[in-house]
Amino acid sequence: MKRREFVGGLAMAAGVAACADKSAEDCSGTVSSGETFEWNMVTSWPPGLPGVGTGAENLARRIEAASAGRLKIKVYAGGELVPALEVFDAVRSGTAQMGHDASYYHRGKVPAAQYFTAIPFGLTGSEINAWFYYGGALELWHEYYDQFGLIAFPAGQTGVQMAGWFNKEINSVADLQGLKMRIPGLGGEVMQRAGVTQITVPGSEIFTALQTGAIDAAEWIGPYNDVSLGLHKAARYYYYPGWHEPGPTLQCSINKEAWNTLPEDLQSIVELACQAVNLDMQSEYIYGNAMALDQLNKDPNVELRELPEDVLELLQEESEKAIAELSAKNEWAKRLHDSLSNFQAKSSANLLVSEISYLKHRID
Ligand code: CA
Repeated sequence: MKRREFVGGLAMAAGVAACADKSAEDCSGTVSSGETFEWNMVTSWPPGLPGVGTGAENLARRIEAASAGRLKIKVYAGGELVPALEVFDAVRSGTAQMGHDASYYHRGKVPAAQYFTAIPFGLTGSEINAWFYYGGALELWHEYYDQFGLIAFPAGQTGVQMAGWFNKEINSVADLQGLKMRIPGLGGEVMQRAGVTQITVPGSEIFTALQTGAIDAAEWIGPYNDVSLGLHKAARYYYYPGWHEPGPTLQCSINKEAWNTLPEDLQSIVELACQAVNLDMQSEYIYGNAMALDQLNKDPNVELRELPEDVLELLQEESEKAIAELSAKNEWAKRLHDSLSNFQAKSSANLLVSEISYLKHRID
């Protein structure tokens, strides 16, 4: 961010008072117009869900506080104003000025957008932030979304997810055949290629679908949220790792016309609040997952399992094929994939001599 914008953003929050005893010239470009804005934010999340849901509420609260009430945002849970998985269209059409959801829910309409959430066997949470903020991905995102009349920022992420809850053991590739599983995004497509029947339902419907046997398996997020949805009471086997979502990012999407009506200082406040929530939510998940996993480890009705090696190998092969096919037919997917994979190769080499090596010694 340019220093001028940053200083402007902070100074504006203090408002006119800071400039009261200076000449008009000294304060030019920093004085607030005083105009106020009331926006709606639609989200995909069940009401009050810790992490993703409360993160969206935090974002609205921080923007309102930092702007001294000049930008007020009313947050709607999934289904309250528009259906949970229709945030993209609602923000595009201006039904709401702002949205908080995952870009990969809209892969049918904007296939390349899933790169901004997660791709199978892609970047972890801290790596994807590095790619956004330093690897040029945020600029690519803005360029890509401009054609849809949107601008978006990373605004929260969950870290490495879990492979999901299963009502039966997965001991080999054969056990995947015909399994009905809730798993969205490219991960879902890969599962489908591996023999699974892929289903997408919003978070609020997973528990009932799994408990009634309408589906045999479901991935949602990780221990912190899965326990809050009660998924440990709907299935016995909890598999890891979340190969399909190694560090999924949530987006704050904004209608570009609405964005352009904001003065620069309010735009800076929105951008800074998104960054703050992005860090805050990552920290919340690291802590919350550790606490919830401890609870699950003590639960006699839950069995924690690692996916068998041959299953992970098949999923990785199918992921590479799915990604190659997407890149072949979608120019933006190719552009994003080239950028991501170039960084990922170098980052993998770096992680081998840093976190992976260190953690192996710390934990073993
Ligand atoms: Ca997930």
